[in-house]
Amino acid sequence: MKALVKRQKGPGFLEYTDVPEPTPGPGEVKLQVKACGICGTDLHIRHDTFPNFPPVVLGHEFSGIVVEVGPGVKGVVPGQQVVTEVVFETCGRCRACKTGYYNLCPTRRGLGWAADGAFASYAVVEAKNIHPMPNNLSFEAAALSEPLAVCAYAVCELTKVTAGDVVLVSGPGPIGLLTAQCAVAEGGRVIVSGTSADADRLRVAQELGVFAAVDIQKEDVISLIRHLGGELGADVVFECSGAAPAAQMGIKALRKGGKYMQVGLFGQPVEIDLDQVAIKELNVFGVFSSNWRGWNRGLRLASQGHVQLSPLVSHVFPLTEWEQGFHVAEQKQGLKVLLIPDQV
Ligand SMILES: [Zn+2]
Ligand SMILES: [Zn+2]
Repeated sequence: MKALVKRQKGPGFLEYTDVPEPTPGPGEVKLQVKACGICGTDLHIRHDTFPNFPPVVLGHEFSGIVVEVGPGVKGVVPGQQVVTEVVFETCGRCRACKTGYYNLCPTRRGLGWAADGAFASYAVVEAKNIHPMPNNLSFEAAALSEPLAVCAYAVCELTKVTAGDVVLVSGPGPIGLLTAQCAVAEGGRVIVSGTSADADRLRVAQELGVFAAVDIQKEDVISLIRHLGGELGADVVFECSGAAPAAQMGIKALRKGGKYMQVGLFGQPVEIDLDQVAIKELNVFGVFSSNWRGWNRGLRLASQGHVQLSPLVSHVFPLTEWEQGFHVAEQKQGLKVLLIPDQV
């Protein structure tokens, strides 16, 4: 079959090439990949700024159909439409694994960087990590289940946004818009912020029902938040842009005792005024990937219609045109770029 493979360590070395079709081992299932999203992680792997173990097939945000089950797999049958967690292997014995936080297992291997992923016609995954695809979703929309799981975990499980909270989400990319929708679903009054370069994305945010979508180059977000009833500042801030000024703005925007959640990655150390964390008694959170709780919550939100995924799909290319797709994703044009493998 054809697949997009990271051939060897170092910047570049991506190749659309023939690889053997995988067969499911014990406890595994083979999926026909219907759609797979390009994630920031894929771009980092391309440039070798995220761990990767070549040769490896990239791609981890996908939907598919079960075509074969391995020995010992129960309760899964060919023909089922599914999405899958990105974890491929964890130790099962450490504190993180034993307490359900297996996304933090130190020896965790993930699909698309340590184990073969889904920029291919077929992928093999662990049966215990698949979830039924909500039947109100298209395969394209369902390919966003993985980023949704991360955002739902951050909003509903870690920070626990509550009805009436004034919430600031900085960064209107796919992660920011999923986070914002989860916070709206929880009853938050949500403000999404971006720059003038984000004009189109801010428009989508507005269409998705956030309270305000703000261009920080034109409007003062902090006075807007105070005006909106957070006299002392926002209750919760989700920093989804991975830009240092946005993080600094988030700390400033919070009320005393508020919650700061770092969702985006900066790729380098950045300067934050930690005195403000002490003086305002802020609660600081982080999120890294997701686990069953995030997946379960995210898929419920999508199946109940609280979160819209289709409006976030801005580009769809056949996998053969992966270079074009990566180019669009690198330029931060639009929102989510999907690649569709050969349906063999
Ligand atoms: Zn991803
Ligand atoms: Zn572990």
